[in-house]
Amino acid sequence: MTSIGQVTRQIAALEISSKPNTTRPTGATHQKKPSQSGQNVSKLLSKFAAPNPFPAPVQKSTSSSTIPTKSSARPPSPTKAPPPPPPSAPTQPAIDIGRYDGGFEIDNESRGEKVYGEAAEQLALDSSVARYRPTREWHLTDFDIGRPLGKGKFGRVYMVRTKCEPHYILALKCLYKSEIVQSRVEKQIRREIEIQQNLRHPNVLRLYGYFHDEKRIFLMLEFAGKGELYKQLTKHGCFSERRSARYVDQMADALMYLHAKHVIHRDIKPENLLLGINGELKIGDFGWSVHAPGNRRKTLCGTLDYLPPEMVEGKEHSEKVDYWALGVLTYEFICGAPPFEDLSGYNATYKRIARVDLKIPSKVSPEANDLIIKLLQYDPEKRLPLSEVRKHPWVVGHRSKSGSTAIRAS
Ligand code: ATP
Ligand code: MG
Repeated sequence: MTSIGQVTRQIAALEISSKPNTTRPTGATHQKKPSQSGQNVSKLLSKFAAPNPFPAPVQKSTSSSTIPTKSSARPPSPTKAPPPPPPSAPTQPAIDIGRYDGGFEIDNESRGEKVYGEAAEQLALDSSVARYRPTREWHLTDFDIGRPLGKGKFGRVYMVRTKCEPHYILALKCLYKSEIVQSRVEKQIRREIEIQQNLRHPNVLRLYGYFHDEKRIFLMLEFAGKGELYKQLTKHGCFSERRSARYVDQMADALMYLHAKHVIHRDIKPENLLLGINGELKIGDFGWSVHAPGNRRKTLCGTLDYLPPEMVEGKEHSEKVDYWALGVLTYEFICGAPPFEDLSGYNATYKRIARVDLKIPSKVSPEANDLIIKLLQYDPEKRLPLSEVRKHPWVVGHRSKSGSTAIRAS
């Protein structure tokens, strides 16, 4: 039987393949917290358009579907005939996707309401009608549903396999529209989806497509086979410098890619990082990311422990906020807790950040120490550029000879 790893690699080779103001609670290191609600940003699709893994079929079949289309945005549309597989698509042998617990149906009975009006239009998200690079039309019945992968703020996430050849393995994330509306994050969710769908980088979690019904939105995400990095960090307490350096290398590469596309993530923290089947890091959760076409942003967002001084002080900020967050991340990977955490409360943390009150434990190597200090600079312009991070002796010294950034063990 083909392993998930093999299939993931084949898929990758084929190119197929999200909040109220919160902080990590002080004193509760490695306790997962959601991200924050956000601000409006215009549409991003054209800017980041990239090859589409699930292109819409050129000609849609006109035979009637066994699946009722529940789109509130448009009339029922033709059948979802499976798209022709890519020319070199391999036929995938069955992969065990685990046992489905019926969670989507259980939730659908008890959770969420239909949304109406402007909100309904805003959340009528369907990648098959996206103006740029539409996908084929998808519906829940197009998937075999497997094991639960986790619970998100607005719904559950499952491992799924497409029923059509070549049976892609994905993570399907459900979001309840009425809960999105209650949390007043319609625009933020739209932005997250629009940004993520147009990103293509090995260390950025892919969003292959999305569809909706009356109550829910479904996101077809790249399956991160090794789950949450946060869980690993909790399990081990901290990471070895070798492992930390490899993550930092991958993070710097992914952030360079995002910044080149004028996307600032703004919410880099272990909770928003997933691990691929080979242990490679995947940035997920673009709930706080923003498209910054040259302008500087003033909104306060992001998790408290990872906020840079300019955001704490309510100043304008740029992509250099992500440089700072990378410094915080580096510290937390190695030391097991973020550098400015203060058990006496948020204000104390704010003050420590604004003063850059940084104390690096003696167990940290001089090279790692140097990198942390160079990233955690008060002045954003003085922070070490990401290209230099990737050339930093600590990072280079821990890079594997093959150039592979995959991490298999702690
Ligand atoms: P929260 O606000 O709590 O972070 P969320 O709405 O952002 O929730 P996610 O964090 O995306 O939801 O998903 C919930 C959980 O499902 C994750 O913590 C992770 O364990 C799992 N999960 C999500 N996406 C994937 C994926 N692509 N591959 C594997 N597991 C995933
Ligand atoms: Mg999340």
